Amino acid sequence: MDDGRVSASCIFCEIASGRMPAPTVFESEGLLAFLDHRPLFPGHCLLIPRQHYATLPDLPARVTGPLFRIAGLLCSAVEEALEAQGTFVAINNRISQSVPHLHVHIVPRREKDGLKGFFWPRKKYQSTDEIESIRGKIGRAIQRLNSPLGT
Ligand code: AMP
Repeated sequence: MDDGRVSASCIFCEIASGRMPAPTVFESEGLLAFLDHRPLFPGHCLLIPRQHYATLPDLPARVTGPLFRIAGLLCSAVEEALEAQGTFVAINNRISQSVPHLHVHIVPRREKDGLKGFFWPRKKYQSTDEIESIRGKIGRAIQRLNSPLGT
Protein backbone atom coordinates (compact mmCIF):
# COMPACT_ATOMS: atom_id res chain seq x y z
CA MET A 1 0.00 0.00 0.00
CA ASP A 2 1.73 3.16 -1.25
CA ASP A 3 -1.00 5.76 -1.10
CA GLY A 4 -0.40 7.83 2.01
CA ARG A 5 -2.42 5.76 4.44
CA VAL A 6 -0.69 4.21 7.42
CA SER A 7 0.72 0.75 6.73
CA ALA A 8 0.24 -1.52 9.73
CA SER A 9 3.40 -3.51 9.09
CA CYS A 10 5.67 -0.55 8.29
CA ILE A 11 8.42 0.20 10.79
CA PHE A 12 8.71 3.84 9.67
CA CYS A 13 4.93 4.31 10.08
CA GLU A 14 5.45 3.03 13.63
CA ILE A 15 8.18 5.63 14.18
CA ALA A 16 6.12 8.39 12.51
CA SER A 17 3.18 7.69 14.81
CA GLY A 18 5.36 7.62 17.92
CA ARG A 19 4.54 3.99 18.68
CA MET A 20 8.20 3.07 18.12
CA PRO A 21 10.83 5.38 19.61
CA ALA A 22 13.58 6.88 17.45
CA PRO A 23 16.13 9.63 18.12
CA THR A 24 14.29 12.44 16.38
CA VAL A 25 16.21 15.43 15.01
CA PHE A 26 13.37 17.23 13.19
CA GLU A 27 9.61 17.05 13.18
CA SER A 28 6.79 18.92 11.52
CA GLU A 29 3.18 18.08 10.78
CA GLY A 30 4.09 16.14 7.65
CA LEU A 31 7.74 15.16 8.05
CA LEU A 32 10.03 13.47 10.53
CA ALA A 33 13.80 13.02 10.62
CA PHE A 34 15.66 10.68 12.96
CA LEU A 35 19.07 9.06 13.33
CA ASP A 36 19.62 5.87 11.35
CA HIS A 37 20.19 3.09 13.90
CA ARG A 38 23.06 1.63 11.84
CA PRO A 39 24.71 4.75 10.47
CA LEU A 40 27.30 4.92 7.70
CA PHE A 41 28.81 7.63 9.91
CA PRO A 42 27.55 9.18 13.16
CA GLY A 43 24.91 11.78 12.30
CA HIS A 44 23.45 9.76 9.38
CA CYS A 45 19.80 10.89 9.32
CA LEU A 46 16.68 9.56 7.66
CA LEU A 47 13.99 12.03 6.60
CA ILE A 48 10.52 10.59 5.98
CA PRO A 49 7.04 11.82 5.14
CA ARG A 50 4.80 10.86 8.08
CA GLN A 51 2.30 9.37 5.67
CA HIS A 52 3.15 6.12 3.98
CA TYR A 53 4.45 6.45 0.42
CA ALA A 54 6.76 3.70 -0.78
CA THR A 55 8.96 5.55 -3.29
CA LEU A 56 9.71 9.05 -4.54
CA PRO A 57 7.41 8.72 -7.58
CA ASP A 58 4.55 7.84 -5.19
CA LEU A 59 4.98 11.10 -3.27
CA PRO A 60 2.36 13.78 -4.04
CA ALA A 61 3.83 16.96 -5.54
CA ARG A 62 2.60 19.04 -2.56
CA VAL A 63 4.98 17.08 -0.27
CA THR A 64 7.98 16.99 -2.61
CA GLY A 65 8.86 20.65 -2.07
CA PRO A 66 8.75 20.56 1.74
CA LEU A 67 10.62 17.24 1.78
CA PHE A 68 13.52 18.58 -0.28
CA ARG A 69 13.57 21.90 1.58
CA ILE A 70 13.99 20.04 4.87
CA ALA A 71 16.53 17.67 3.29
CA GLY A 72 18.58 20.78 2.46
CA LEU A 73 18.18 22.09 6.00
CA LEU A 74 19.35 18.74 7.38
CA CYS A 75 22.41 18.81 5.09
CA SER A 76 23.43 22.16 6.57
CA ALA A 77 22.60 21.08 10.13
CA VAL A 78 24.46 17.76 9.88
CA GLU A 79 27.51 19.49 8.35
CA GLU A 80 27.58 22.09 11.09
CA ALA A 81 26.82 19.73 13.99
CA LEU A 82 29.26 17.00 12.98
CA GLU A 83 31.88 19.42 11.59
CA ALA A 84 31.60 17.60 8.28
CA GLN A 85 32.84 18.95 4.96
CA GLY A 86 29.81 17.84 2.97
CA THR A 87 26.96 15.36 2.81
CA PHE A 88 25.75 12.43 0.72
CA VAL A 89 22.02 12.48 0.02
CA ALA A 90 20.35 9.34 -1.29
CA ILE A 91 17.01 7.65 -1.85
CA ASN A 92 16.66 3.98 -2.73
CA ASN A 93 13.54 3.34 -4.81
CA ARG A 94 12.69 -0.37 -4.54
CA ILE A 95 16.13 -1.77 -5.44
CA SER A 96 18.32 -1.79 -2.30
CA GLN A 97 15.36 -0.32 -0.40
CA SER A 98 15.07 -2.33 2.81
CA VAL A 99 12.22 -0.25 4.29
CA PRO A 100 9.43 0.36 1.77
CA HIS A 101 8.49 3.77 3.21
CA LEU A 102 10.19 6.63 1.33
CA HIS A 103 13.22 7.93 3.20
CA VAL A 104 16.02 10.33 2.34
CA HIS A 105 19.44 9.39 3.68
CA ILE A 106 21.53 12.38 4.76
CA VAL A 107 25.07 11.27 5.52
CA PRO A 108 27.90 13.52 6.71
CA ARG A 109 31.00 13.31 4.49
CA ARG A 110 34.66 14.18 4.93
CA GLU A 111 37.61 13.94 2.60
CA LYS A 112 39.06 10.41 2.63
CA ASP A 113 36.23 9.06 4.81
CA GLY A 114 36.28 5.80 2.85
CA LEU A 115 33.01 6.25 0.93
CA LYS A 116 33.54 6.36 -2.79
CA GLY A 117 31.57 9.01 -4.73
CA PHE A 118 29.24 6.19 -5.73
CA PHE A 119 29.61 2.71 -4.31
CA TRP A 120 29.37 0.93 -7.63
CA PRO A 121 31.60 0.71 -10.71
CA ARG A 122 31.02 3.23 -13.52
CA LYS A 123 31.13 2.55 -17.25
CA LYS A 124 31.49 4.91 -20.18
CA TYR A 125 28.87 5.04 -22.95
CA GLN A 126 30.02 3.05 -25.96
CA SER A 127 29.28 5.78 -28.50
CA THR A 128 27.57 9.11 -29.09
CA ASP A 129 24.75 7.11 -30.76
CA GLU A 130 24.11 5.27 -27.50
CA ILE A 131 24.10 8.59 -25.59
CA GLU A 132 21.66 10.09 -28.11
CA SER A 133 19.38 7.02 -28.06
CA ILE A 134 19.12 6.99 -24.25
CA ARG A 135 18.76 10.79 -24.07
CA GLY A 136 15.87 10.53 -26.56
CA LYS A 137 14.13 7.67 -24.71
CA ILE A 138 14.25 9.51 -21.38
CA GLY A 139 13.14 12.77 -22.99
CA ARG A 140 10.13 11.09 -24.62
CA ALA A 141 9.20 9.34 -21.35
CA ILE A 142 9.33 12.70 -19.52
CA GLN A 143 7.05 14.27 -22.12
CA ARG A 144 4.60 11.37 -21.81
CA LEU A 145 4.60 11.32 -17.99
CA ASN A 146 4.53 15.10 -17.65
CA SER A 147 1.67 15.74 -20.07
CA PRO A 148 -1.66 16.63 -18.37
CA LEU A 149 -3.44 13.62 -19.86
CA GLY A 150 -0.49 11.27 -19.41
CA THR A 151 -0.58 10.49 -23.15
P1 AMP B 1 17.36 1.57 2.80
O1 AMP B 1 18.25 0.38 2.76
O2 AMP B 1 17.68 2.65 1.82
O3 AMP B 1 15.89 1.17 2.74
O4 AMP B 1 17.58 2.23 4.22
C1 AMP B 1 16.88 1.85 5.35
C2 AMP B 1 17.63 2.40 6.55
O5 AMP B 1 16.78 2.34 7.66
C3 AMP B 1 18.89 1.61 6.88
O6 AMP B 1 20.01 2.49 6.78
C4 AMP B 1 18.62 1.11 8.30
O7 AMP B 1 19.79 1.16 9.09
C5 AMP B 1 17.57 2.10 8.80
N1 AMP B 1 16.66 1.61 9.81
C6 AMP B 1 15.89 0.49 9.76
N2 AMP B 1 15.15 0.40 10.88
C7 AMP B 1 15.42 1.47 11.64
C8 AMP B 1 14.97 1.94 12.91
N3 AMP B 1 14.07 1.28 13.63
N4 AMP B 1 15.50 3.09 13.40
C9 AMP B 1 16.41 3.78 12.69
N5 AMP B 1 16.87 3.39 11.48
C10 AMP B 1 16.39 2.26 10.96
